[in-house]
Amino acid sequence: MEAAARRPSTQTQTPTSTKPKAPATSGTFISRPPVPSTPHRISPIARSAAGPSSLPTNAAQPQSMLSCRPPPPRNDNLERSRDDPQRILAWDETDAQDEDEFSLEDMAGGEGIGADDELDDFEFESDLDDVSPTPGRLQPLNDWERQEFNSYLALAKDRIGGVPRLYVEQNTFFFNTSTIHSTLSKCVYPTPELLYARLRRWFLWDPAVYGDVPCPLCKNTLIGHGNIPSPRRIIDIDSTIMAIGYRYRCTHCKNAKSGLKTVTFQSWDPRILAVLPPLLAAEFPAILSRRNGITRTLFRNMRAAFLGGMGAKQFADGVRSQHLERYDEAHLQYLQYLASREQLDKFCGLKHRRISTFADFEGFHGTVPSAAWFKTLYDRFIAQHRNEILKHTSMLTLTIGALDHSHKAC
Ligand SMILES: [Zn+2]
Repeated sequence: MEAAARRPSTQTQTPTSTKPKAPATSGTFISRPPVPSTPHRISPIARSAAGPSSLPTNAAQPQSMLSCRPPPPRNDNLERSRDDPQRILAWDETDAQDEDEFSLEDMAGGEGIGADDELDDFEFESDLDDVSPTPGRLQPLNDWERQEFNSYLALAKDRIGGVPRLYVEQNTFFFNTSTIHSTLSKCVYPTPELLYARLRRWFLWDPAVYGDVPCPLCKNTLIGHGNIPSPRRIIDIDSTIMAIGYRYRCTHCKNAKSGLKTVTFQSWDPRILAVLPPLLAAEFPAILSRRNGITRTLFRNMRAAFLGGMGAKQFADGVRSQHLERYDEAHLQYLQYLASREQLDKFCGLKHRRISTFADFEGFHGTVPSAAWFKTLYDRFIAQHRNEILKHTSMLTLTIGALDHSHKAC
């Protein structure tokens, strides 16, 4: 929180440092009433956005901030003038300076929550020689996530003629997730993990069951090479989707380094999506980086926000607040359910575990990308579509024109 980090430094300014600067004099001295020094000034926007929690709580400065600081010198003339309803309103230069100090960009944090998503380098995995799990490259799963992954992987292996039962009977790529209400109300002993699992959706992506997938390099048909050992984490507006994917191997292409026919592709590799029928490829719901991804819905929101002038930090803060609020709502449901069975639990001597914090790895293990991550993803998209954007721009009609002495129209 850059704003939170910066604000106390301003609060600790001595009264002498907050004195208004003398007006610039250019030959004539202009006399003006002194502005009373204010020990703690927060811009109106910061004050309304931060709420009571933004009050100074720095333990290093408690007395000077709250009680021991001498009151500012009182200017009776100015106080009277401010009480006068007929007074002429004037722009307060000190307020203007404070507004500049705490711009919206500074007040936004944009730090994200969770693992090291800023280290994501956005280069998609190329031909892989090693199909074993690569510890440390993907975000690891905790115990309940691993159990969920294994259970959904078992469902993915339930197939009819090679096609997942999910595709055949439910005609969707998403596994059905029961609601929090139905899950808890049918449970004898509810656990936090049951709640966590209801806040995740699971997606199965195995497009090769719908037809032959050509190798992006040699156009020969790829063959199945098992499932990817870890799910891909895809961030939506207020929740997370876990994607289960597969590897496809080319029996003709050789690895450039080893010379062996070990070239494989992940089922969500952009090169695989590019060779799929567009009707099928459009069903893949995410824009991926190397290790993470966001849904197309969230990506469209990001584009609209950036085009509307919102910064990456503000957008990342907004996404983070959406995720936290959704998690808090589910937490409240859990507490309401426990309250409804309080008498029974007291009679049986049952005690329940607490819900974890959002980002606790042993608990919910929530993750939200940082502003830098969003910005890099957007920059990559713009770079990929640079030629189309320039072409479109060149085809627009001239709305406002100007001509300078060099005779260039712009
Ligand atoms: Zn090939």
